[in-house]
Amino acid sequence: MDHQTLHVDYQQTEAGIGASGYLTIDLPALCRNYRKLSATVAPAKAAAVVKADAYGLGAEQVSKALYAQGCRHFFVAHFSEAIQLRPFVPNDTRIFVLNGLQPGSEIGCAEADIVPVLNSLEQFRRWSSTAQKLGRVLPAVLQFDTGMSRLGISPEERSALATDLKSCSNIEVLFIMSHLACADEADNRQNADQLAEMRLVATEFPGLDVCFANSGGVFLGSEYHGVLARLGIALYGGAPTRGKANPMEPIVRLDVAVIQTRTVPAGTRVGYGGARVTSAESRLATIAAGYADGLPRSLSDRGAVFYGGVRLPIVGRVSMDSITVDITALPSGTLSLGSLVEVLGPHQTLEDVAEAAGTISYELLTSLGRRYERRYR
Ligand SMILES: *Cc1c(COP(=O)(O)O)cnc(C)c1O
Repeated sequence: MDHQTLHVDYQQTEAGIGASGYLTIDLPALCRNYRKLSATVAPAKAAAVVKADAYGLGAEQVSKALYAQGCRHFFVAHFSEAIQLRPFVPNDTRIFVLNGLQPGSEIGCAEADIVPVLNSLEQFRRWSSTAQKLGRVLPAVLQFDTGMSRLGISPEERSALATDLKSCSNIEVLFIMSHLACADEADNRQNADQLAEMRLVATEFPGLDVCFANSGGVFLGSEYHGVLARLGIALYGGAPTRGKANPMEPIVRLDVAVIQTRTVPAGTRVGYGGARVTSAESRLATIAAGYADGLPRSLSDRGAVFYGGVRLPIVGRVSMDSITVDITALPSGTLSLGSLVEVLGPHQTLEDVAEAAGTISYELLTSLGRRYERRYR
């Protein structure tokens, strides 16, 4: 396996590098995920959601790789993210700001050729007056709230907007969109309710293309695809549907360095608060990543790391910069200063760690710290 090869490479090069850990991001696997999802949604197109630095994996590297696969639509959350991304993708791409148009960013948005997702009538009117000021026609996306009550034009505003739109010649609506609240739950009835509401919106705004599915939505069926799917977690190897086999390839591997080992007798307190006491003589290893590196404190006394397929449980509380694990299951001397243990990889998926931590893959990925040495394949 590729992963195994990587592991061996690291074992050989561990000394002298001095990194606390290696975050390996497999761009070819990302591209395979993109192609697989593109084929699933075809003839709809596949857009990449690269908000939060591409879920923590590097918006620049991810976007460049996906551009080479033919991706021409990129979604971010904030205007500032769009401005950062703009230099990394050619001008034949569209960059969309999901969180909408903030007062004061209108001119910058227009000048940088960034497309706002308009989430209210007020935002629509602001964008239209910006277009008027600039003497230009400006592109936009209209987002409708179809049942999530988070972002989007409310049902009450729809008829006023439809009227405004008829007499408006300086906004080019590229498509209308909405977001599913429960797409990762295949059997949740809210999915069908939201789809029905979006179909109603489409009849009120005729002639406009629909953008609807996120990663989970792709697997709900083709009626959810619209003309453009917004793909996030599935691109990055996370499971799009809860409780089902994950059809995506993992693209992240995290290996963290051992910084000390020791043998302690039974009855020894380990970590902050002395919260954990060994029940037998134990060998322990402290590894160089903690909650400041995105390993949630809720993994304290839960969860594990792996070495050569052997599970090494976390002992005591997660510290800011380190975690202590029990290595008694390994032959003595297997691990030493600088050895690397697997936090994410072939033996432990994003979902495994997220579940142990009581969170979701999204939060785990976007929390991965900046202190690992990043390697792109
Ligand atoms: C984050 C986000 C997405 C991507 O969702 P995934 O579940 O990661 O595919 C799509 N659309 C909107 C509006 C989002 O906020």
